[in-house]
Amino acid sequence: MLYRRIVLFVCLLFVFALGYDFSDNVAPSRTPPHGLSPADVPQFIVLGSDDQSNAEGMKWILDFIESRQNPDGSPITMVFYTNCRNFSNPSVVGQHKRAISMGCEIGNHTTDHIALELDWNAGGAGIKRQMTLQDWRDEIQSCQDAIISTLGLTPEQVAGFRTPYLAYNDNTFTVLREVGLMYDVSIIEGHSTERIGSYYWPHTLDNGSPGHNASWYRKFFDIPIGSHPGLWLLPCYNFAMPPDNKCEEYGIESGLINSIDKMVGWATSGKATPLDYNLWAGRNAGGYELNKDQSIAVLKYTLDRKYEGNRTPMTLGMHTDFYVDDYHSPADYVNIQDAAERRAVIEEFIDYALTLEDVRFVTGMDVIDFMRTPPEVKAVPVKR
Ligand SMILES: [Zn+2]
Repeated sequence: MLYRRIVLFVCLLFVFALGYDFSDNVAPSRTPPHGLSPADVPQFIVLGSDDQSNAEGMKWILDFIESRQNPDGSPITMVFYTNCRNFSNPSVVGQHKRAISMGCEIGNHTTDHIALELDWNAGGAGIKRQMTLQDWRDEIQSCQDAIISTLGLTPEQVAGFRTPYLAYNDNTFTVLREVGLMYDVSIIEGHSTERIGSYYWPHTLDNGSPGHNASWYRKFFDIPIGSHPGLWLLPCYNFAMPPDNKCEEYGIESGLINSIDKMVGWATSGKATPLDYNLWAGRNAGGYELNKDQSIAVLKYTLDRKYEGNRTPMTLGMHTDFYVDDYHSPADYVNIQDAAERRAVIEEFIDYALTLEDVRFVTGMDVIDFMRTPPEVKAVPVKR
């Protein structure tokens, strides 16, 4: 018994020694890491799905990515940023275990999906209730514990976090470090004046985030973000919509950006929040009410500009719950009511991306590993 305890103690020490120590300090840069040129880095695409309240939506995307492979023959993997309240459903737990067996990553999306309560109409006065450090600790630590114990993972394997509603404050990042998470994927990068194809690569939050500083979120709600040494940011990279002279090439009618600007009542600068929901939802919910063809066009155009630009990773925020028929109200999918059409958006995009030889669908941890490890040692991510 004593022997077993000693072995366990040594193993724990070993795991601790391998754990992330927040010692990285990597500034935002518009050029790829390790002195590589864009042509020499893979075009990473990170599919990251939030919530996971039903097993059917998870089964669909897992079946699909299992039926394909990256152009280099490696398996397609993705991330599930999960609310742990959904672990009360055994089928949901089963799909998570299947995802892990396929090399996918499980991330933290809080336990109860509460967040800052924002008043979007307050004109700048807009926070009804600030989440305190303790609020975040309760939400993030409990989810971390549940993922580790329910799915049998080590703390190091649960490394990423996305906040519900992309709503965060400085306390969020303080608690991510406390809990020992390696990276966040909640802050949007690529605002109005940023050209698609020259966005910032992932970086640590030692000196804040240019994406946050340039965001309407920062200005509207007056939320500053301080220094969080060593904590990595995999930005949520804004999508770009095809301009008029590109619409035909991408199979849609000219005038997309103008019509969206008119509908939402503000200048989008041709950018779209990089979550599936924001492409489809009604204008009052912050969506662009795109149909199937328009959604595919936006994803393809975004990828092409990145691929021929500086090759910052593409992040596609999904919700597996949205790919089943009986979830949510029709208002959430104004011009794309059929779940089969919503699935087709993702499937057709993935198949298009796989025709580009340098594309790699990977996890968020793979991208951070690539940022951390010089290519002499590792040119492409190795699956954990
Ligand atoms: Zn969510």
